[in-house]
Amino acid sequence: MAQRKVRVRFAPSPTGALHIGGVRTALYNYLFARQHGGEFIFRIEDTDSGRFVPGAEEYILESFRWLGIPFDEGVSFGGTHGPYRQSERRDIYKKYVRELLDAGKAYLAFDTPEELEARRSEVPNFQYDASTRGMMRNSLSLPAEEVERLLSEGRQYVVRFRIEPGEDVHVSDMIRGDVVINSSILDDKVLYKSADELPTYHLANIVDDHLMEVTHVIRGEEWLPSAPLHVLLYRAFGWTDTMPQFAHLPLLLKPDGKGKLSKRDGDRLGFPVFPLEWHDPKTGEVSSGYRESGYLPEAVINFLALLGWNPGTEQEIMSLDELVRLFDITKCSKAGARFDYVKGLWFNREYIQKTDNALLAPDFDRILRENGIEAPMERVEAVVGMMKMKKINFIKELWPLCDFFFIAPQDYSFEDKFVRKNWTATAAADMTELAALLEGLDDFSMEAQKEVVDRWAEEGGKKPWNPWRVALVGTGKGPDMYELSAFLGKEETLRRIRKAVEILK
Ligand code: GLU
Repeated sequence: MAQRKVRVRFAPSPTGALHIGGVRTALYNYLFARQHGGEFIFRIEDTDSGRFVPGAEEYILESFRWLGIPFDEGVSFGGTHGPYRQSERRDIYKKYVRELLDAGKAYLAFDTPEELEARRSEVPNFQYDASTRGMMRNSLSLPAEEVERLLSEGRQYVVRFRIEPGEDVHVSDMIRGDVVINSSILDDKVLYKSADELPTYHLANIVDDHLMEVTHVIRGEEWLPSAPLHVLLYRAFGWTDTMPQFAHLPLLLKPDGKGKLSKRDGDRLGFPVFPLEWHDPKTGEVSSGYRESGYLPEAVINFLALLGWNPGTEQEIMSLDELVRLFDITKCSKAGARFDYVKGLWFNREYIQKTDNALLAPDFDRILRENGIEAPMERVEAVVGMMKMKKINFIKELWPLCDFFFIAPQDYSFEDKFVRKNWTATAAADMTELAALLEGLDDFSMEAQKEVVDRWAEEGGKKPWNPWRVALVGTGKGPDMYELSAFLGKEETLRRIRKAVEILK
């Protein structure tokens, strides 16, 4: 058989905000598609109308736009295998349900929820399967006329998959190898419900993967228990030749490694579990997002890529292109990956250092505006460039570190330890001399200042740097003095020096 073009999909259900684990699943699919020159599909699995949440689909799309992970086809992207929203594919599923019924591989079941409940309470560990279906009300146990009568009366029914017991089902998983489950432990899963004329997740998922020519199913570990059923469905339809290869990704674990990562861990320890801020339309609850918290999308991607996989070297910082080159699905771990959010902060710090100042400036500009400062973008960019070396986790942390670029010290005071220590007896006289010296400069660049001030300091045996800092900043923080005074300009620098002399004397 000819090699098929790699096609993978991300198939979320629009039931709320996208969990960060889902983002990792999509990322791994994307990396896999790109490294194989394949295609990445965005499908919406919305057959469970009871769990539908308005706004969730748009939220998911916006998350991937922010992260810079593009899809090739699917909902909102178009393509030749659509529609890509399962609620728009009802007629397609009906045809395949009929096919299974006609082949005797599925059957109708009329048991009401009350009847099922009653069975569950009488039979310990009741499961609807080959051993129990005879005592239930379905098209295998009831006479044909009775089934006809129920249908003509318009009774609701479900279609169940007829699973033959006692057979080993093999799931070939690119991460976990050959996973074997005996079919006797599986129940006759519901594939379709007449009440809403919709298939369940299992049927729709298989039919769509087949029709959309999906070659690899890469998804979270929580779907591993469904995989044997999916293999059996492929077989029931006679699609074994084109059955996708599976890869079930490791679970994301709590930061302490004990148990599954939950939103509560994020709330407790102060990190987001969603890519974007989420406003729950039902409860009104607002949950924090990576974007609004000040993470760079590249940092989030790099961090997530290493949750469950590593390149086998010490390398940790990798661009998306490098990840595409290095990623290897078969080298993912089977064991859960600890969600080390402190490492996430480290990645953000590293990416702030690496990112172009011009790209960081708009972010900082927003924070300046929140603090009532309006400055030209070149000046905002220059400050980011001078200050980002301070190993900040987030751009917003810059503000308290560098407010003095935009606001002159309001008052100078010996209450401040740095002032007390550095505004010595000679400081006022030295600063008056320095001011006179700077006033004479036509060129106020860093280099021009440095030349005259260094000479003056050396000849006079002076140490003007700390008192100068007191004058311009009001305390012991900020960049190199020449950088700062060049940024402030001659007029503002002289004003601050003279004011400090006047107040501190
Ligand atoms: N709709 C499922 C989800 O919400 C898709 C699982 C799969 O990828 O098969 O994750």
